[in-house]
Amino acid sequence: MADIIDGKAFAATLLAAITAEVATLGYKPGLAVVLVGDDPASQVYVANKIKTTIQAGMASVHHRLPAETTQPELLTLVRHLNTDPTVHGILVQLPLPKHLNADEVINTIHPDKDVDGLTVVSAGRLAGGLPGLVSCTPLGCLLLLQDRIPDLSGLHAVVLGRSNLVGKPIAQLLLQQNCTVTIAHSRTRDLAALCRTADILIAAVGRPEMVRGDWIKPGAAVIDVGINRVPGATPGKTKLVGDVAFAEAAEVAGLITPVPGGVGPMTIAILLRNTLHAAQGRIP
Ligand code: NDP
Repeated sequence: MADIIDGKAFAATLLAAITAEVATLGYKPGLAVVLVGDDPASQVYVANKIKTTIQAGMASVHHRLPAETTQPELLTLVRHLNTDPTVHGILVQLPLPKHLNADEVINTIHPDKDVDGLTVVSAGRLAGGLPGLVSCTPLGCLLLLQDRIPDLSGLHAVVLGRSNLVGKPIAQLLLQQNCTVTIAHSRTRDLAALCRTADILIAAVGRPEMVRGDWIKPGAAVIDVGINRVPGATPGKTKLVGDVAFAEAAEVAGLITPVPGGVGPMTIAILLRNTLHAAQGRIP
């Protein structure tokens, strides 16, 4: 039976350390969150980020804009936040309303305030091995892994998924740690056989329980990034599952993250870690 990685506890410890460090600064690192429109899920995510930011002793600057906000108006706000010395991190909540050009908005964020790590400059810095802010979920996965396997050197990591948000940055981070990295996607042939060669298997596909127990090499570390809402046991209720069939996989793997309670809680902790580092000018 695999050792289960408790991402909730790890994130809580990380947040406590961040809060303690913030208390020594003599100023409040500022995180600006921009929400455009009324998307209900985004409102929940933003409320959670604001609450956690304040709990960590940081300043939360919230800009809630109407759905009909124009591209120039949004760009003007982002440029203003770029030059505001009390704002150290900027997060524009996605998705934006369809009439807005999200790529242009994100890439207007100053890279040294890009605490979500989504600008092309941040992606380029990561690919080039240069100091820069790294997107939260991928960095959260790496910290969870390194906590259990301090030396990842030489291990074969298979990353399922090649999105700019998750798959590609995770692959870059693992490569920096001297893993041998294979990136798989929807056109990859014989995924199951490929996955069985992985010492580290990262699942970031958005397909409920796609990775089965017999896809896993005995003893492998399995990090499940997937968050999928599926019908629950009670009619009319839903539940969250990952991209990995947890019960089957846990019988074979050496280490595994559950869903919920694995990678998910790390994302917000890393957001605040990135904001702290940006405030300190300590961009790793
Ligand atoms: P995307 O939809 O952007 O990317 C999915 C990737 O999976 C693509 O590269 C796609 O391949 C690949 N893929 C899809 N179906 C298959 C398949 N049948 N076989 C092999 N590969 C496949 O998703 P994201 O990267 O944004 O997110 C992935 C998952 O992670 C989602 O469940 C999301 O909810 C979750 N997530 C969790 C976060 C957290 O905080 N824990 C944060 C962000 C995301 P191709 O490129 O060929 O289409």
